[in-house]
Amino acid sequence: MTSQNKKIINKKRIYYFSSKLTEGNKEMRELLGGKGANLAEMTSIGLPVPPGFTITTASCAEYYDAEEKLPTDLMDSVYENMQRLEKETGKYFGSSDNPLLVSVRSGSAVSMPGMMDTVLNLGLNDQSVEKLALITGNERFALDAYRRLINMFGDVVMGIEHHHFETVFDKIKKRYKANRDSELGIKGLRELIESYKQIVKEHTRKKFPQDPYLQLQLAIEAVFRSWNIPRAITYRRINDIHGLLGTAVNVQSMVFGNMGDESGTGVAFTRDPSTGKNEFYGEFLINAQGEDVVAGIRTPLPVKAMKKWRPDIYWQLLKVKKILESHYRDMQDIEFTIEHGKLFMLQTRIGKRTGPAAVKIAVDMVKEKSITQSTALLRVPANDLNQLLLPSFDPKAKRNVLATGLPASPGAASGYPVFTSDEAVSRAENGESVILVRRETSPEDIHGMHAAAGILTSTGGSTSHAAVVARGWGKCCIAGAGELNIDVKRKKIQVNDVTITGKDIISIDGTSGEIILGDVRKCPPNFSKEFKILMKWADKKRKLLIRTNADSPKDAKIARDFGAEGIGLCRTEHMFFGDQRIIAMRQMILADNQQDRRLALKKILPYQRRDFEGIFTVMKGLPVTIRLLDPPLHEFLPQDEKSQRQLARSMKVPAEKIIKRVYQLHEVNPMLGHRGCRLSITYPEILEIQVRAITEAAINCRRKRIDVQPEIMIPLVGIESELSVLRELVENTIARIKQKKKFKGKLDIPIGTMIEIPRAALTADQVATHADFFSFGTNDLTQMTFGYSRDDIGTFIPEYLNERILEKNPFQTIDSTGVGQLVEMAVKKGRTTKPKLKCGICGEHGGDPESIVFFQSVQLNYISCSPFRIPIARLAAAQAVLLAQ
Ligand code: PEP
Ligand code: MG
Repeated sequence: MTSQNKKIINKKRIYYFSSKLTEGNKEMRELLGGKGANLAEMTSIGLPVPPGFTITTASCAEYYDAEEKLPTDLMDSVYENMQRLEKETGKYFGSSDNPLLVSVRSGSAVSMPGMMDTVLNLGLNDQSVEKLALITGNERFALDAYRRLINMFGDVVMGIEHHHFETVFDKIKKRYKANRDSELGIKGLRELIESYKQIVKEHTRKKFPQDPYLQLQLAIEAVFRSWNIPRAITYRRINDIHGLLGTAVNVQSMVFGNMGDESGTGVAFTRDPSTGKNEFYGEFLINAQGEDVVAGIRTPLPVKAMKKWRPDIYWQLLKVKKILESHYRDMQDIEFTIEHGKLFMLQTRIGKRTGPAAVKIAVDMVKEKSITQSTALLRVPANDLNQLLLPSFDPKAKRNVLATGLPASPGAASGYPVFTSDEAVSRAENGESVILVRRETSPEDIHGMHAAAGILTSTGGSTSHAAVVARGWGKCCIAGAGELNIDVKRKKIQVNDVTITGKDIISIDGTSGEIILGDVRKCPPNFSKEFKILMKWADKKRKLLIRTNADSPKDAKIARDFGAEGIGLCRTEHMFFGDQRIIAMRQMILADNQQDRRLALKKILPYQRRDFEGIFTVMKGLPVTIRLLDPPLHEFLPQDEKSQRQLARSMKVPAEKIIKRVYQLHEVNPMLGHRGCRLSITYPEILEIQVRAITEAAINCRRKRIDVQPEIMIPLVGIESELSVLRELVENTIARIKQKKKFKGKLDIPIGTMIEIPRAALTADQVATHADFFSFGTNDLTQMTFGYSRDDIGTFIPEYLNERILEKNPFQTIDSTGVGQLVEMAVKKGRTTKPKLKCGICGEHGGDPESIVFFQSVQLNYISCSPFRIPIARLAAAQAVLLAQ
């Protein structure tokens, strides 16, 4: 246990909340969990919340530290707080006269919808159920509550699988000709309760506990245990949730949505979590208990339908929506219950939303003067902008619509239907795009939902856990498509007279709810006006310039449209690969002397010149950093003998010549071998031809009045003298070409270097003497600092991450403590030589928001990332400034 945990533990373990006394507040989510902290907060701002108390997350940590034993005096404090609750409600726990029932719910600091356990109606037993029937005058209700308790308790606390209860329930319903759960009468329920008790006995060899305090203790332990069940662990891993103490336990007096037709329960969002529209969005069930809506067992009614059922409650809820939004200044996800026409709030939390919704809500709330521009910028997780960049179905494409469900999370996905989560994972691992199709998804499906391109369910509503989780990930989801008949066993979907199997592709449109047969053409994204506004605010705030990694006019155009302010890395290797070029390149590699090599390379010149002209034209007015050839030469020759012989025939050279050359070029560690600037030192003619192509292209553009700003970058420098030699060569070549072309205009081409070898970072003050700029190649720098081959990490990194030996994949998020030190040192040392030295980064980390925060902190001038990550980088760079304030 950390000393910080200890500090928390030594304090209070239980926090009470009621209209008379509220001990917690919304700032205490780390200790009380999100649910507990917000129950306290809602109580203190006067909303109708049933009273209760929260056992702290630190108690959960203690439970695990003591090898899964409750802290010794915890139950004494629980007892004291139950007495307070009894006094306040006038009901008594365990009393058969006026029984107090409680719910026991989990809730950690970061919301994990549906991942952990809940038990409702706790406190009922064979006697109190009869009293409850008498007091409420509603025998059916009391029995229904009791059967739910035995089922939930059996499942969550005693570990009996839910389907045992389900099977018996179905049998009894059939016998009594009840189509729905709510149609089963008193006799049937009594029989069901006896059968449930029997199931408990058979599976655990213990009776269902009649002592309410024993029920309560076991339920608290079960909620603590649920913190570490596999689905909760998987959810935390997928969502990168670390460092929490555990789950809190909320014990709250029960209110009942299943007391008849004047009762109900629902879940709602204060704004539409798919689109962000400022519209009350949610659903409810009449005569049902809390979990029925989220579990997706019955398809609920949209919350607007409440206007007809109980308009007074609908207006009351709208008032609550307003109060909560203006109090929290953010979109809320609420749970409520109506007992005999009286509204109670059971939860509020910041609502999960899609990327497009996050942008719209943030911008709208600034317009509503609820939050500032800076808050809006911090509200949108930069990576979620990815969802705005995803394609949607082309509106002009033909659609063979099979059915329509509830559009639960927007987007467009096509793939093969799969019927279990394990199949989703295994087929996705084989590279197939799959749609997970279920009657309802349960939290057990988390791994399959993550692997699938989209999720489709036949029951449940747009607030079912499937929908909530999908939206959190920005994954396309349709829920409640009731026309689908899903046969999980036979792996088939029947819809009207069409049968779909796992071999047919289907498409799902999470915006319209349409389920379509076949693959539908997709089209590029269309940016909302709110997105453009947010980007403008980001640009105003950020200090880092955003460039892109692009090596073709097409990518350069995409990047420029996304707001790139230059090219930070134009890799030139592909410019040697086209049909004619590769032949010339191979002739160059096979040539025996420099003269022949020059002749071969000259054939590539016009192609490269044209390539550069294309890129310069698209990027006119902006800098374009061109990196000279980097990979080892053997990559340009075929490696197997058959292809080598074929090549020999086509080049009309003896096969042995090629085989011998490949043998000569072979390296045990090519990534540490004859590549980068080492190639230019040994084959200066390659450098010369590239520099010539760049200079001629620039001159041609200038003559067409295109404002070109080329920069030349030398890769893999580790020693100052490598750069000084090559710089001279580049300068001389540029001067020669200018002279040859009789170009008198101004054409300065800065010459810089990549810093991607630790030695270059360590000696950056010397390297800077010959460099006009530095660009950190954090891919190679990570490879060489860790000593991990960047091409072979698949063999051990996943295990390192699972075992938490590494917190993050260092090739995705910069290792700020190790690799980052080298970056920081190189910037500082470089600027001691040249105070205004321009420094950027062009490794993959340039598009990672967390790394961008680091790059801002070491005062780089720019980051360069792939075109599609530019909006993310623009926002992340603004957030980096705000986070540093
Ligand atoms: C790098 O090493 O970070 C880099 C940008 O270059 P490349 O990935 O081409 O080696
Ligand atoms: Mg590199």
